[in-house]
Amino acid sequence: MKIAIASCLQESNNFSPVATTYDDFNPVFGPAVLDRHRGKLTEMGGFLDVLDATEATITIQPICAAWAITANRCRRADFARLTKAFAAGLAAANPDALLLAMHGAQTAQGEDDVEGRFLAIAREILGPGKPIILTLDLHANITQRMVTLATAIVGYHTYPHVDMFETGQKAARLLLRTLAGEVRPTMAYHKLPLIIQAENSQTYRGPMHELITAAQALEASGQAEAVSLFPVQPWLDIAEMGCAVVAVTNHQPKAAQAQATKLARQLWKRKAEFETTLTPVPDAIAAALALPAGPTVLAESSDSTGSGSPGDSTGVLKHLLQAPLTGPAAIFLVDPATVAAAFAAGVSGTVSRRIGGCFDKKNSKPVPVQAYVKLLSDGSWTARARGYNTGITTSMGRAAVLVCGHVHILVAERSAMTVDPELFRSHGIEPVYCQIVVVKSPNGFRAAYEPLAKAIFVVDTPGVSSANLRQMPFKNVPRPLYPLDTEGF
Ligand SMILES: [Zn+2]
Repeated sequence: MKIAIASCLQESNNFSPVATTYDDFNPVFGPAVLDRHRGKLTEMGGFLDVLDATEATITIQPICAAWAITANRCRRADFARLTKAFAAGLAAANPDALLLAMHGAQTAQGEDDVEGRFLAIAREILGPGKPIILTLDLHANITQRMVTLATAIVGYHTYPHVDMFETGQKAARLLLRTLAGEVRPTMAYHKLPLIIQAENSQTYRGPMHELITAAQALEASGQAEAVSLFPVQPWLDIAEMGCAVVAVTNHQPKAAQAQATKLARQLWKRKAEFETTLTPVPDAIAAALALPAGPTVLAESSDSTGSGSPGDSTGVLKHLLQAPLTGPAAIFLVDPATVAAAFAAGVSGTVSRRIGGCFDKKNSKPVPVQAYVKLLSDGSWTARARGYNTGITTSMGRAAVLVCGHVHILVAERSAMTVDPELFRSHGIEPVYCQIVVVKSPNGFRAAYEPLAKAIFVVDTPGVSSANLRQMPFKNVPRPLYPLDTEGF
């Protein structure tokens, strides 16, 4: 039995000023896939953990592994190159089954449903009868095509996302049981005219916790193989947009539909509970300065690098530079020209220029700094906290640490996830000892930062991943859509 494994993950934001390229995915093919993911806490790591341990006689066929930081649509030619490579690898492998790890909210130029496209390619190669199991991020946008073409869909149960590995394991176990004839997966979904803010949708408390608990009870009781809630990330401007619930049962299609619909109705009923209150930046900084000890974490979700923002906002930075800090503050910023200036100045040199606001010129303006160049690096770092790419080394291009008074600015050529304190630690900044740490994340940061933060504020700045959904320039989403509309449903 030949089982192919593949991944291609990215979350899109259709308001981002930055397009995605082939190189952003840093793809590898064939045996290099195993080197990247075996023993790592990723979905692919979870696939391999189960497949390596099975007593069934199988051959693992690694096809591709790719992950890109969030941004806008992948360029047309680059997307064609990605899908072509996936198709060629899969056709050459000619597997009996496929485990596929994707995000679920990926778009490309000319393609609103990248996951559906990958499934269409895979289904054409494998034919109608062979199982394809797809794992997705909790923020996936479920489409009719995905549900039609996949044998089963398995989503994360956590936000912040800390169960990538377990999701991969669950999918691999379901595949093995399907291949052994123990399970005949049947899948149903229920879509809602709803998008919700990310800030209040934690799965360890509040309404999403209760809904996930209900989904897990269905799985634990044996009534379902997998029940997944998909409160889609809200910055996709596409026609088939909205939250969904997907249920997979063992040959019980009516039960799958009933489970998905029941949970979706519960999510709809509780939609108002996800409304978020944001704190003005000056108020959050004042509160941080009033505390005897830090760190106070300011979450600038409108510039979240995990939600498709470019990471170049000066919305918090401009206030931080003026604040009467008494201890260090840390902030991440994407600004390639400033990195180049820092390299030109050299370590212990001085950079005097306007920084930030270089991609999203609409939402923030560059601010003047005179800064000391503390450190220069190649920008590679290894994620350690449970979450994205745990154990995997990624690069943010060249990077520099600029010091301006108490403010330590980690400037990079390319974007990076900011949910893991290791981002700063890898560049000589210890968040625990900071008075203020700025993360560019609506909620994912809580997994690693809540245990060490003395206070947390989600701050109000403009940006392309703003929680102010009613103010975003949606053009293509279906209407009515809550919370853009409040009646007509
Ligand atoms: Zn997510």
